[in-house]
Amino acid sequence: MSTNITKIGVFTSGGDSPGMNAAIRAVVRTCAYHNKQCVAIHRGYQGMIEGDFEEMNARSVKAIINRGGTILRSARSLEFKTPEGRAKAYNNLKENEIDALVAIGGDGTFTGAMIFSEEYDIPIIGIPGTIDNDIKGTTYTLGYDTALNTVVDAIDKIRDTASSHDRLFFIEVMGRDVGHIALNTGIGAGAEEILIPEENLGLDRLLESLEKSRRSGKTSSIVIVAEGDNIGKNVFELKDYVNEHLPFYDVRVSVLGHMQRGGSPTCFDRVLASRMGVKAVESILDGKSGFMVGLLQDKMCLTPLEQAVKGHTEIDRELLRVSDIMSV
Ligand code: ATP
Repeated sequence: MSTNITKIGVFTSGGDSPGMNAAIRAVVRTCAYHNKQCVAIHRGYQGMIEGDFEEMNARSVKAIINRGGTILRSARSLEFKTPEGRAKAYNNLKENEIDALVAIGGDGTFTGAMIFSEEYDIPIIGIPGTIDNDIKGTTYTLGYDTALNTVVDAIDKIRDTASSHDRLFFIEVMGRDVGHIALNTGIGAGAEEILIPEENLGLDRLLESLEKSRRSGKTSSIVIVAEGDNIGKNVFELKDYVNEHLPFYDVRVSVLGHMQRGGSPTCFDRVLASRMGVKAVESILDGKSGFMVGLLQDKMCLTPLEQAVKGHTEIDRELLRVSDIMSV
């Protein structure tokens, strides 16, 4: 392993996700294991610009593996998008003798990392932390599994009230560009229909399906709608549309919102975060830069950041068929 690196900085940026703390812990402890210093950078790129740094040791990260959010806090920094902002950030890193960075965040964070490491000679490795699971080069992003479980739990609770009152619920879940959360939680919680950005079910098909459900004896129904579904109506407009065309349904809407980002990470996310943190630090010590760590076929691997930020992971189309069969 390379001996040139003596101090590694770690930060979280963009939207928070469960498992970020477990990843911070893993980075700090892997540094300690290899006798390297570790510095936490608070509030992402903005903290880098303002020099908001804190020396860490193995004990600084005790009792955080189970906590949601990020102890380092996160921020969206417009200043980092300017060359002047990045110059300030670089000067602060140099003043504090930070030789390399681990960036935990989503595609925006990685885009910033790529630009920064091209402008300045500083090795950077990314850890994908986002609940949307929308980054190439990893089957799972940090926080996605926790979000799935949080959403399924919420849908189960809504179903209790839906079935007590013979109601039809449209439940909006996160996923502006990809339908992973909607598709998986829809199947996991037994939804009648799932509307995702990748597929346009069409309003006629939706009405037909709901009518069929009613005829088959179902008295309550759940439809999962991803934020970015492309049926052409938002969740409230959908409610009005169905009310108008299928007046026998008592239709309600529930938007799950930010609760999907919070909560204690699942065991899966904690293990994933630990593996990713170890891989990120050891990759830097091996002289790598400009990569994202990921999990493919249950093995830790590296993907160039520029590939990771291009496009999204595809949904598994077989799941659409499974969902159709399940709502017979
Ligand atoms: P999420 O997927 O949750 O939105 P993200 O990492 O994509 O997370 P963003 O807000 O898009 O979140 O990006 C985080 C930060 O990365 C931005 O606030 C900005 O400081 C930096 N960043 C994003 N794009 C660029 C860019 N083109 N140049 C420089 N910095 C950037």
